Formats: sequence, C-alpha cells, structure tokens
Amino acid sequence: MLGIFGAPHKPPLHMPELPEVEVTRRGLEPQLAGQVILGVAVREPRLRWPVPKDVHQLAGRTVKSVRRRGKYLLVDCGAGHLILHLGMSGSLRVLPAGTPAQKHDHFDLLLADRILRLRDPRRFGAVLWTTAAIDTHPLLAHLGIEPLSAALHGARLHQLTRPHRTAIKSFLMDGRRIVGVGNIYANESLFRAGINPRTPARKLSLERCDRLVGEIKATLRAAIRAGGSSLRDFVGSDGSAGYFQQRYWVYDRAGQPCRRCGGLIRRIQQGQRSTFYCPTCQR
Ligand SMILES: [Zn+2]
Repeated sequence: MLGIFGAPHKPPLHMPELPEVEVTRRGLEPQLAGQVILGVAVREPRLRWPVPKDVHQLAGRTVKSVRRRGKYLLVDCGAGHLILHLGMSGSLRVLPAGTPAQKHDHFDLLLADRILRLRDPRRFGAVLWTTAAIDTHPLLAHLGIEPLSAALHGARLHQLTRPHRTAIKSFLMDGRRIVGVGNIYANESLFRAGINPRTPARKLSLERCDRLVGEIKATLRAAIRAGGSSLRDFVGSDGSAGYFQQRYWVYDRAGQPCRRCGGLIRRIQQGQRSTFYCPTCQR
C-alpha cells in the first residue's frame, strides 16, 4: 500500500515544523529510495521561488535516499539533489501512477509505479534542483546546528550563547544558531527545563544548558513519535489515521492552571511570537 503524507484535505493548524518534516521524511524514504525517476510534472511553477526549468534534469536519475536539513527535504540523486520545502501549507503524498491531479497539486515526481505529489494551497513551499555540493546551497549554508544531532550538547549551547544578551526563547528560535526549534518546541522545552524564557541567553549556566538541550531533544522526539503535532489529520505510512494532538505543558495555555504547580500560565510577546510560561516553575 502506498503511503499518504501530510494533510491533503484541510490546511494544518500551524505550518509544518521540524517533527512533521522528519515524520514525512521517514514515510517517504522507503517509498522513494532505489526508485528510478521517469520525469517531473510542473503544473504551477510559481511557488515561493519559481520552480527552475532544470528540474527536468531529474529524469533518468535514481533516488539514493531522502534526507532532511532543518525543514528542507533533500531527495539525494547522487550527482544532484531535489530540494523540497513544505512552506505554510504543503503536503507530500505518494500515490499510484496515473492518479489525476487535483486543485493545488503543483508538482509531481514521476516514478515507475508511483508519484510523489506536492499539494500546496498557499504556494509558500519550494521545489528546487541543485548539482552543487548540498551544504553550500544558499538556502542551507547558513542553517544552524541540527538539534537532534550529537553536535548539539550542553557545552555547545553554553558556548553558542556566551555572546548573546537576547532572551533564551528568541535565541532558540533563531535558525542561524540551532535550526528547526519552532515556537511550540521552544516554549515546551523551556518549561521542561524550568527556565524562564526571558532569561538572557548568556546568563545560562552550563548545567542549565545541559538540561535545556536534553529537553529540546526529548520534546522534538516526542513530537516525531506522535506523528507531528501540527497535522491533526495526518495519515501515516500504513494508511492509518489517528495520531493524537500532543498535550502541551504551556503552549497555547494562557490563563489555565500549570500542570505541575497549579499556578496560572502566562502569555507574553517575544519578538513577533507568543511565549507561554509558568512564572513559578520557570526561573
Ligand atoms: Zn508551574
């Protein structure tokens, strides 16, 4: 049975975050690896950036693997990469060959018996092709550390934060430092680590950095296990629906009692984003 990925019928409540992209990657990889690409179909090239004409160079290549860097999916074809981004509302599905395209189905990667199809109503997603070294691509070259990689550990966060007076919450969401910790996961990790989101980044001790890194990884891993918290109607690779929305400690819970101490969760603005925290549990 071919898998269906993303939210094909309803727009997601939030844009896809790192866990959703990683869940999508894990679903796509076994469907695509080893497959020969017959060609592509571009129905609407006006995405976030125009889909380049050279995507037709994909024809005849074999998919080696599907990797992820930040929220970019990288379809590795050996001597080149198809770069995909889901933007605000994108979803990727693997469908039987010949499945008729519907509204907002802008791009297909055509394989022998199946199609990888991008649906993107708001067209903030991306479809790009590069034969350059992937880490030097302008979209990827300046991305920060992968939060789930061994390269992120307490001492590294401690070192990275030393020059920065900015609040730790804003620091965590800056993709040039650490990539892919979105608003939900920054709020939740700081609660779990007992750190006030307004704490200046450079004031965090090594011990607190250690704790925070552990909670960032745990929070992201839990979301990946839950199948991606943003996509309520996410359909898994086995075709079964029914991943649960995660239960949050603080995110979107302003005015409700803290699940740990019973005090009220507070909401403040940091940058352009809402921060939720417990003033008792987070110091
Ligand atoms: Zn509390």
